[in-house]
Amino acid sequence: MSEPTAGRILIVDDDAALLEALPRALKLRLDGLQIDISDNAADALVRIRETDYDAVVSDIKMPGLDGLEVLREIKKLRPKTPTVLITGHGEHDLAVQALRGGAYDFVQKPIDRDYFVASLERAIELRRLERRVDEQRLALERHARVLEHVDDGIFLIDDGGVVQHWNPAAAAVTGIGSEDALGRRIDDVLTGWTAVAELVPIAANPDPGDPASKTLPLELDGKELWLSISGVRFVDGIVYAFRNVTEQRALDELKGEFVATVSHELRTPLAAIYGSAQTLRREDVTLDHETRRRLLEVITAESERLTLLANTLASGRLRLDHKSVDVAALAGGVVDEVRAAFAEREDITIEVAGTNGIGEIVADGDRLRQILINLLDNAVKYSPDGGRVRLELETRANGIRFAVSDDGIGIAVAEQQQIFGKFYRVDPTLSRGVRGTGLGLYICRELARRMQGHVWVESREGEGSTFYVDLPVVRPVEQGERAAVIS
Ligand code: ADP
Repeated sequence: MSEPTAGRILIVDDDAALLEALPRALKLRLDGLQIDISDNAADALVRIRETDYDAVVSDIKMPGLDGLEVLREIKKLRPKTPTVLITGHGEHDLAVQALRGGAYDFVQKPIDRDYFVASLERAIELRRLERRVDEQRLALERHARVLEHVDDGIFLIDDGGVVQHWNPAAAAVTGIGSEDALGRRIDDVLTGWTAVAELVPIAANPDPGDPASKTLPLELDGKELWLSISGVRFVDGIVYAFRNVTEQRALDELKGEFVATVSHELRTPLAAIYGSAQTLRREDVTLDHETRRRLLEVITAESERLTLLANTLASGRLRLDHKSVDVAALAGGVVDEVRAAFAEREDITIEVAGTNGIGEIVADGDRLRQILINLLDNAVKYSPDGGRVRLELETRANGIRFAVSDDGIGIAVAEQQQIFGKFYRVDPTLSRGVRGTGLGLYICRELARRMQGHVWVESREGEGSTFYVDLPVVRPVEQGERAAVIS
């Protein structure tokens, strides 16, 4: 059995016999079709005004208003309703006029039933499709109105890749207004889109329960945007929804770096404490009173530093101090710490020079210690067995120069700038497999910079390196102006 023909049509004819025969014939062929009849134009127009028919069939020649006038009225009242006109045999002129007037089709008397049924079926189908398109358009318009107010950027591209919708959030995130996006190809609107589009998950149906979005970078105007983006396929295009997660991502990255920096800061004091404790526990050597006292001092001082670090972290920021620092004492303490931290590398000699009459500078003592410990730590790490490491102090015209030298593996000229970068490490196969984070020198440079100083290196591969730190002598009056904050 064929599908019932859903739909409702109106047949208008002043010929009573035809008005009876036509519906009967149609019902036989188009099962389920609802058919209204009218024997005059005036009554037909009343009905058409009341009912949105799927098609109207009208005789062209009727007393009063004729079919052409009915057609004109229908075009005004229901411009989308297909109208099929019945003309007399040979009335070609009328038929042409009917088509010009917007009739969907015409049939000639005597009516060829097959042709008539087929034409009417097409007309009903056309109306049905039009209705569906209208409904979809309405739904889209309704959605579009909602989309104007959501926080997610939303755009719709048709199958030709042309932007058909671009909501205000999309404009706000990308900085591209809808006037510059609508009607243009998406690749021209968002350069770099083609590469991104391939990676965006596209669902067949919207599923709010499972937002399978992906975070992807999009380059816009030289700036990198990170978008969490997903798409849904529609009849004639794809709707993309996205959220700007650039800041969140930057924050995550920052958090990672922060954790790495903090672990780096924890490592040296912990190593010094561990090394000192290990030495104190040794039973094979007898430590004299002075050595024991110095090792215990390292443990106390480093524990205090860890407490300070913990407090600083709890308060959320690192504030640089500007106090008078006894440089000679600080240098001696630093060397003790490094010796304790590398207790297992007794073969390495660590010396201090130039401490006599060096005086004081105004700086953050703890941060200065941290810089020197990092440099000495590297000097030992990258020294061969039996190597010599030296910390030398020198008074300069505007401040104090600290030089940490070793006769270790050295650094290639091409790497000498790079090693101060964040997370930069020379190929480990070249650095004897020494482990590290690549953060030490970065932290040194940052800390020195914040104390108005600077750090650089002179090195020859295979011969050794000297790292220099220049710090200015800061007069106490300037202390207040130099309150730098590391956050
Ligand atoms: P880490 O030592 O944790 O890798 P750093 O930032 O302290 O990180 O050092 C960066 C890189 O610089 C090291 O990986 C190493 O290759 C090189 N380097 C640093 N100090 C020395 C040194 N004294 N001798 C040779 N290479 C060094």
